[in-house]
Amino acid sequence: MYHELPPGASFWLFLFAVDQDLAESTRQKACPCGGRLHRANYPRKPRGGDGDLPEDYDYRFSFCCDRDGCRKRVTPPSVRFLGRKVYLFAVVVLVSAMRQGPSPRRVRELAQLFGTDRRTIARWQVFWREHVPQTPFWKSARGRLPALAATILPRSLVEAFLGGDDPCRGWGRLLLFLSPITIAGGLPNAFS
Ligand SMILES: [Zn+2]
Repeated sequence: MYHELPPGASFWLFLFAVDQDLAESTRQKACPCGGRLHRANYPRKPRGGDGDLPEDYDYRFSFCCDRDGCRKRVTPPSVRFLGRKVYLFAVVVLVSAMRQGPSPRRVRELAQLFGTDRRTIARWQVFWREHVPQTPFWKSARGRLPALAATILPRSLVEAFLGGDDPCRGWGRLLLFLSPITIAGGLPNAFS
């Protein structure tokens, strides 16, 4: 079981590059009304990355339609940010996974390692247990990953994706796999 994220800024830069690709493919699709999408990023102050976070983590990619009367907001999926949660997506996944399983890490220990508090960790447990399984994403993903269906989220996914010898790539694949839950419509409103 993994107990840390890949160290250093290169991991966060790698995830940033994945987000750039996701944003570019969203931008190219244009607005459903036919209008062009302009940059309209959301400011962010993410927690959990220590001192290694590049400045690019001050915002999440987002776009706005340029057509009068539409101006629709379109936000691409992300491997860095999970909806409006303050903590980095990877931290939400890792801390939640470490709380699960046959010998869960103590809350106090996780709080020290990642700067999270008891209530936040408890909310994340509810999020994975009650909300993610209800999403259209999970209902279709479960069909593709039948062996994971009965196991515990997100620990089962961490174990499935991080078995290789390159944790950076493993995290990239895992967060990309989960990225549909990071956008509007991907989650019930209360947790978006
Ligand atoms: Zn539009």
